[in-house]
Amino acid sequence: MLKISPLFSGSKGNCTLIQSESVNILLDAGYSYRAILNALENRGLEPKDISAIVITHEHADHIAALPMWTRKTATRIYAPENIADLIRQRVYFSDVSEIKESFQVGDIDVSRYICSHDAVCCFGYKFVCGGSRFACVTDTGCYSQDLIDFLGDCRAIMLESNHDEDMLLRGEYNYSLKRRILSERGHLSNAQTSEILKQLAHTSVKTVVLAHLSENNNTKEIAFNSAVAAYASCGITEGRDVMIYVADQYSNEVTVCLD
Ligand SMILES: [Zn+2]
Ligand SMILES: [Zn+2]
Repeated sequence: MLKISPLFSGSKGNCTLIQSESVNILLDAGYSYRAILNALENRGLEPKDISAIVITHEHADHIAALPMWTRKTATRIYAPENIADLIRQRVYFSDVSEIKESFQVGDIDVSRYICSHDAVCCFGYKFVCGGSRFACVTDTGCYSQDLIDFLGDCRAIMLESNHDEDMLLRGEYNYSLKRRILSERGHLSNAQTSEILKQLAHTSVKTVVLAHLSENNNTKEIAFNSAVAAYASCGITEGRDVMIYVADQYSNEVTVCLD
């Protein structure tokens, strides 16, 4: 059994709760410590109930709460090997384990996907518990068959749908920031995500959470409609054959349960 609850998702901060019957994992802790605590409390959890924090990469929107969290609670941190030392500089009473390829937290097996992002190192992850399989990939600027293969054997995925290209190009960001976001080491656009979903149309993926939306260059409606249209072009109907949710920056009610 796996239960996935996006707590905060977007360019301003990211944190997702992943639970099995015996362990609770936080995927990233990139939002205010107080807000994460409140979100956990709403789900009946305290920091001491968290078995591990798994970090994707060193950008602030993924690790902002780590210093405060680890000052209060000694939680084991897992981070990509190449950034483990960077993360160690941010934590107090917690040990940092280096992720090479795969590892285990209680009854959850975790494996990684190497993202293409302007970080020292950025991983997406797959969480497997019994027959339940869930993957989360954000902060990657391009996709390949490797990504399709990584996601394709999961029942549920959380996938970046960062920006609408037209909104970004017409928006107020300066040229170099626009170029960074659009680059192969930036973020996936709605259109790129739609292409990925088309390729996943006839795989085991039945639940999609669109994640890491830009507050300035996207809307939940545009991202959702783009994904629905992508599936429709493959003869697949949202709400019947596949469920699509859009994770919110500030508050999320949705919990995806996999038996
Ligand atoms: Zn990033
Ligand atoms: Zn990010």
